[in-house]
This record gives sequence, structure tokens and C-alpha cells, in this order.
Amino acid sequence: MDKLISKLKKFVSVSDQIVAFTGAGFSAESGISTFRGAGGLWSKYDPSIYADINYFNQDPTYYWNFFKDERYPVIKKAKPNDGHYALVKLEKRGKIFRIITQNIDGLHQLAGSSNVIELHGNTRNIFCRKCNKKYSLDEVYTILKKELPPRCSCGGLLKPSTVLFGEPLPQVALDMANISARNCDLFLVLGSSLVVYPAASFPEIAKNNGAKLVIVNIDPTPLDDIADIVINESTSKVLSELI
Ligand SMILES: [Zn+2]
Repeated sequence: MDKLISKLKKFVSVSDQIVAFTGAGFSAESGISTFRGAGGLWSKYDPSIYADINYFNQDPTYYWNFFKDERYPVIKKAKPNDGHYALVKLEKRGKIFRIITQNIDGLHQLAGSSNVIELHGNTRNIFCRKCNKKYSLDEVYTILKKELPPRCSCGGLLKPSTVLFGEPLPQVALDMANISARNCDLFLVLGSSLVVYPAASFPEIAKNNGAKLVIVNIDPTPLDDIADIVINESTSKVLSELI
């Protein structure tokens, strides 16, 4: 592990266009429950009912109940971890050029990172589908306690900006992620198992365009073979040592 960290330090010292790509493992250390895998939310809630756009359009009460019971309390309580703060420091040192995240908890921005590309939206940003008015987590929770599904003052239905199953990923975010992957000199995968496409294609794009690829994840990933360094460790631990 020490050898791998010192190799990583060398990579970081000669790079100034670093892309950090963060996944569920990165936020798990902030107490954000994961969706996939054993013990994940999808083993308790069927995503085709609770997180699918077609089902949401038919009957949004399932999603909003899930939000009220499982998402709001967790997101409300969650605080950025050492990994989030380490990325803020790297950004201030002029190393990080972009953060691409699969997470929907908004913790990078809360920690102080500025160049964040959110591939799957953000649970903290909730919009009226009719007039596009933005609502905060707390505002929606207040409405939710009285009215299910929650509605805007104009009568329109509220929906978080998070990408539900059956919805396309936001094109602007995809385009920006693509450009960032093409132009970086070091691509850090942090806490992603790299199984969800197209998100998992960005490390390949970076590698094919000459960047070094480093994967920090508790478990092995399908891209370990093409990576320059693989560290099977907690992301906050590795980043704290790096800093
Ligand atoms: Zn409205």
C-alpha cells in the first residue's frame, strides 16, 4: 500500500489536469447508503416501482414515500468526509480540473469543490415540472408532511433533478464529462465499481487519450487491467495520505 501511495504521489506531482471520478463508495463513508449490491437500497425497494420514471409518471407517491423515509433523513444528516475535503485541497493547489460524480448527494459542493459534473443529478435540487420553480430539501419535506405527492404553489408536481431509471442522463453533463476525460492528464477513479455505463466509459476514454489511470476502490473493477495503479482501499484513507 505505501509503495502504491508513493507512486500515486508521483503521478499527482507531475499532473495539473486531474479528473476525479467519484462513485457510491466515496459517499458511503459519509453514511450515504448505497443502491446496488447486498444491503443496498434496491434489495429493499424495487427500483422499477420506487425509482422508475414510467412508474413515477403513473403514481409518484411511491417515489415520494421512499424519499421521505429513506432519502431525506440520510441526505439531511450526511456530511462530507476526508475524501471530499482532500479533493477540495487538490483543487486549491491547482491539481484538480474537474470532478465527475455518479453521486446525487451534493457533498462535493458542500465540502467546497467548484467544478463538479453531476451525471445523475442532485437530490438537493427539486423542481416543479410545470413552472420549473426550484425547491430545497427542507421546503419539500415540509410540503411532503401535508401533501403526497408534493406540489408546487402553482399546482405542478415536484420532481428531484436526480435521474430515475428510464430517464436519459443529462446531455450537458455527459458532454462535459467526455471533454474532461479526453483532456485530463490523470484520471482518478474513487469509489466506483465501474459497472454502470456510460459513466464507466470515461476512464477508458481518458486512458485512450494518453492519461494515466488510477483506480481506488474497495473491490476489483472490470477496468483494473488497463489501470496504471489499482488500490483496493478506502478512498478517504488513500486521499488523506496523498494530501
Ligand atoms: Zn410550479
